[in-house]
Amino acid sequence: MNTLIDLRSDTVTRPTPAMRAAMAAAEVGDDQYGEDPTTTRLQAVCAERLGQEAALWMPSGTMANQVALRVLTRPGDEVVTPRESHAGWHETGGAAANAGVQLVEVGRAGVFTVQDLADAIKPRGLPVFPPTTLVQVENTHNRGGGVVFPQDEVQRICALARTQGLACFLDGARLWNASVASGRPEAELAAPFDLIAVAFSKGLGAPGGSLLAGRRALITAADRHRRMLGGAMRQNGFYAAAALHGLAHHRERLAEDHAHARAFAERLAPCPALRLDLATVQTNIVVFHLTEGAPDATTLVAQARAQGVLLNAFGPRTVRAVTHLDVRGEQVLQAADTLLRLLD
Ligand SMILES: *Cc1c(COP(=O)(O)O)cnc(C)c1O
Repeated sequence: MNTLIDLRSDTVTRPTPAMRAAMAAAEVGDDQYGEDPTTTRLQAVCAERLGQEAALWMPSGTMANQVALRVLTRPGDEVVTPRESHAGWHETGGAAANAGVQLVEVGRAGVFTVQDLADAIKPRGLPVFPPTTLVQVENTHNRGGGVVFPQDEVQRICALARTQGLACFLDGARLWNASVASGRPEAELAAPFDLIAVAFSKGLGAPGGSLLAGRRALITAADRHRRMLGGAMRQNGFYAAAALHGLAHHRERLAEDHAHARAFAERLAPCPALRLDLATVQTNIVVFHLTEGAPDATTLVAQARAQGVLLNAFGPRTVRAVTHLDVRGEQVLQAADTLLRLLD
């Protein structure tokens, strides 16, 4: 029997036996009383690793993003994001519903320049314009194919934001991947921002959870909004133990996922039925487009599923594949060969 090769997302991983053991052994308490020692430790470890004063557990990356918007903006404000940001495309309108803000997309393929930001900031002093109060960076960028945001541009963007009175937020659900791929420590990637979100449920292989880090006053405000949104938890140490285990044991190996994605992309790229820009394949995500005459994304994804390969249709002719802890290198190449056969 063929086992499924699941390249839909790095969220499909199941806890390893060692991670389950760490979860089972976790010391726990009521986190709403600040009495869950494992959650407290995870927050301290992450604050330090991200070079920030404080950090706060979040049940999901989506909630981390919603809370960050509520802390850093007021209803009616405008937020500048990269094109096709998670905040705008994968949170079902949450930015508008929960924070009351409108999003303006700039740049292309997941990145933008300081000039793009300068052009997007609405002039101050005219009462008809919404105030632009926040700029958001996504690193790595999911729909952009896992691209790493160039750090010198991040620095220029955040420097301009400061002079214009904008706050800066980093959606770093896959910041671990950005760090491994760029060789820059997470603290360096996080330094220019007011708040930083990271996820444990993606490449690190934990069953769930994210975290917000930043200055203490902002984290205190985040705590209130997390509670308001229903995200304050109790014996959360089981999850926190999985996150600590993932950080300790699965971060360095992200380089393997990146190599697997690269090998997959290089095998597919020459196929005339698809368009795949190898320059975007920098981490564990491969996004490719089906050319005219090739089947559309839904058809190809269904055909691949019948052959035991799971992928995501990301648009009418756009497909995403993601490598992770639960797929081996030879399976990834096998999946590429299956696609080549289907597209031949
Ligand atoms: C997955 C993801 C999130 C949201 O995380 P969930 O835990 O699935 O809610 C936020 N931002 C980016 C860039 C992501 O890829």
